[in-house]
Amino acid sequence: MQSTSSNCIFCKIIEGLIPADIIVQNEHAIVIKDIFPKAPIHYLIIPKLHVADVAHLNANQYEIGTQLFCLAQQVGSSLPNKQDFRLIINNGANAGQSVFHLHMHFLSGMPHTGLTDVEL
Ligand code: AMP
Ligand code: ZN
Repeated sequence: MQSTSSNCIFCKIIEGLIPADIIVQNEHAIVIKDIFPKAPIHYLIIPKLHVADVAHLNANQYEIGTQLFCLAQQVGSSLPNKQDFRLIINNGANAGQSVFHLHMHFLSGMPHTGLTDVEL
């Protein structure tokens, strides 16, 4: 498993090769604003290791999931008024994934009523 992929837009953001609106980052993952927000607050929580999707996580990489949850909790706790938030991971093109570097959508600031009310 390579740590970065040369034709991956999220790897380029992580390496600082293309700009992004960075909310917070640590050694494991970075949180950026989604370029086409689907909610008033729409962030992407992206592991720094290049892994295509959940299905391609090796058994020794499950810790990445914990790291993404950790940042989701941190970002969520910094929202005004203890706003609720929604986390979504698309796995595979038929599930709506368009960037094949694992990432978690963090959505907040609007009421969500069901599983299908946002198209990512
Ligand atoms: P997905 O469809 O689940 O793979 O989500 C990919 C997300 O990445 C989409 O919501 C895009 O709007 C977002 N995106 C693509 N390119 C960029 C970029 N350069 N900076 C920030 N967000 C991006
Ligand atoms: Zn990548």
